[in-house]
Amino acid sequence: MIENHYDYCVEIHSKEDGLIAKCRMNIDWAPAVEDALWRGICLGVLDAFHPDGDIAIEPSFDPELQAPYIAGFSIRLPIANHPFSVEFNSQYFWMQLYPLTSLLHQQNQSGDKNAYYYQFFAMKKSSFVETETKSSIKIKALEPAFSMISIDLQSYREKSESVDNPQKEFPVFIRRTVLDECIEQSKEAGSLEIGGVLLGSVGKDKDETFLEITHQIPVQSPGTLNKLEFKPETWEYMRWKVQQRGVQGDWIGWWHTHSYLKDVCHKCEKYKTNSCHAGSLFFSTDDYAVQRTVFPRAYSVALVIGESPCAGLQYGLWGWRKGLMERRGFYVLDSNA
Ligand SMILES: [Zn+2]
Ligand SMILES: [Zn+2]
Repeated sequence: MIENHYDYCVEIHSKEDGLIAKCRMNIDWAPAVEDALWRGICLGVLDAFHPDGDIAIEPSFDPELQAPYIAGFSIRLPIANHPFSVEFNSQYFWMQLYPLTSLLHQQNQSGDKNAYYYQFFAMKKSSFVETETKSSIKIKALEPAFSMISIDLQSYREKSESVDNPQKEFPVFIRRTVLDECIEQSKEAGSLEIGGVLLGSVGKDKDETFLEITHQIPVQSPGTLNKLEFKPETWEYMRWKVQQRGVQGDWIGWWHTHSYLKDVCHKCEKYKTNSCHAGSLFFSTDDYAVQRTVFPRAYSVALVIGESPCAGLQYGLWGWRKGLMERRGFYVLDSNA
């Protein structure tokens, strides 16, 4: 259960008119809670995603502006004799406010990007126990299989190629066969957007927790035009397909292509002068919605592959960091490692 004694609110100020609105935010706490649980598991102070006792969410008041204004919040896990809490800054609220802020900025005629500013605050509420995180999206929780494989991570690293600085957080290894298959299927699909599920396992080597992606299963949506759509039926179909193939592993992420640039940059005028900056490595709000719905666990990842005449082949990995989806590094592991 989540114990939360506060309402989290925002003041919207306009440069011209001053304070224009105060509203309560309907915050989806789940990604932050997942992050805190995962940190607990990685540090070895927790051994499951279902701790005994309540998880507490508390405001972190702004030291300059002071209460009720907040700089963020913290999540405290119920671990006996071992106080463990994780701090989150106000960046977390931005993701949740995005639909509102983008609407305000669209409506703003002056084109001034800083026409509005926002201040977050927290107020005590009378009834304080929330039984569920407030979200319109149902979480289909993935139970982690902690295989506790005793491998020597150092030898894995030696047999791997680093992509985008993977040393910064828990290691993710993607087998080269998986990456190659995704790239090949992306090439075959031309400018059609395709994708699939990444399978693998969470493992622990002495003190370090890691992720290994061993297989991918592509989504085939016959008859689709140019957009990959993830409907509930798609995931049901994928479950069936994974079973059919008899592939071992948990669903630990997904991959998809941003291939529209093959059309956009077809005969691109900037190609010759090497001045085209169109890139395909980004994580859209639609991508976030898929991640949040199907892969809410803090260790879940998303691989994005893009290719265009100007930018060439690009790929990048996104993962949860403090409840937000951010670009992260990974290792490409030679399969016979
Ligand atoms: Zn171009
Ligand atoms: Zn996307």
